[in-house]
Amino acid sequence: MKIGDLLRKGVFSVSFEFFPPKTPEGERQLFETVRELKELKPTFVSVTYGAGGSTRDRTRRVVKRIHEEIGLTVMAHLTCIAHTREELMEILEDYRSIGIENILALRGDIPRDMPDFRPPEGACRYAKELVELIRRRFGDHFSVGVASYPEGHPESPNMEWEIRFFKEKVDAGADFSITQMFFENRYYYEFVELCDRAGIEIPIIPGIMPITNFRQIKKFASMCGATIPQSLIERMEPVEDRPEEVAKIGVEFAIGQCEELLKNGVPGLHFYTLNKSRATIEIYSAIKDMVPVRDLYA
Ligand SMILES: Cc1cc2nc3c(=O)[nH]c(=O)nc-3n(C[C@H](O)[C@H](O)[C@H](O)COP(=O)(O)OP(=O)(O)OC[C@H]3O[C@@H](n4cnc5c(N)ncnc54)[C@H](O)[C@@H]3O)c2cc1C
Repeated sequence: MKIGDLLRKGVFSVSFEFFPPKTPEGERQLFETVRELKELKPTFVSVTYGAGGSTRDRTRRVVKRIHEEIGLTVMAHLTCIAHTREELMEILEDYRSIGIENILALRGDIPRDMPDFRPPEGACRYAKELVELIRRRFGDHFSVGVASYPEGHPESPNMEWEIRFFKEKVDAGADFSITQMFFENRYYYEFVELCDRAGIEIPIIPGIMPITNFRQIKKFASMCGATIPQSLIERMEPVEDRPEEVAKIGVEFAIGQCEELLKNGVPGLHFYTLNKSRATIEIYSAIKDMVPVRDLYA
């Protein structure tokens, strides 16, 4: 199933993101999570890709297993910064040969532990070039998603810049977008409004990060420029060493966030699961009656 086609038909999308584990035990746990989350009938699930190409084989393996053994629609993330165009073609050709139809086209970041890293000669410098490459070589075989940043990408000096290059990426042939995590919905609404004014018409699916480990999320948020509301910091900090309490507040917060987004007519919800099922299941159970009809033929 192509995600872009489903969204165009008005299907409300619920999706879950995973990362490829480093060990066999991690992979076993991931597949337990995938099986548990399958019960929620996701529209699709996605698997991340290490920007330096480090997870090339692991991402492929997890994508293939989810596609073949679990039978869910799966979107493979692909970052272009560290690959030659020939390598990107090989990876995409391989995905096509195993029946994968959805790609999240990303630039990626130069790995922090590789300060001397230089992109290979002729590499795609921005995600837009990867989108163009996919469309040129594969036509409509893949539905292509791209990333978006309601608070602006850390390298963007302002929102005007952000929208300008986001639009270029969309015009290159993206079908839909998934946002970076955000914790204040107003950033999402303002971003969608700016996109609307710029003539960007693709569905923009909010990315939801349930907080179950506050220290870790604070670090992620500061790296990607996501604002954590002061009121949430004040609730989280006193309990940050008590995982059960952190998760309780995190789940409650995400439920409120999703409820408000649903009332405002978002096209879907994408959950960053960090390979765990519990928080996502709790959030989904609380909001499921508000979720629009998800079955095309219901
Ligand atoms: C939903 C989601 C999933 C992600 N999954 C992964 C993953 O699996 N693996 C991973 O490594 N990372 C992932 N990332 C992180 C992403 O790789 C980084 O945020 C990266 O820094 C930017 O990637 P991009 O595709 O958004 O880049 P781009 O769209 O290329 O934009 C990057 C920056 O360059 C600017 N820019 C774009 N075009 C131009 C131009 N022509 N001239 C000047 N500036 C320009 C943009 O405004 C922006 O500031 C994900 C992010 C999101 C939101």
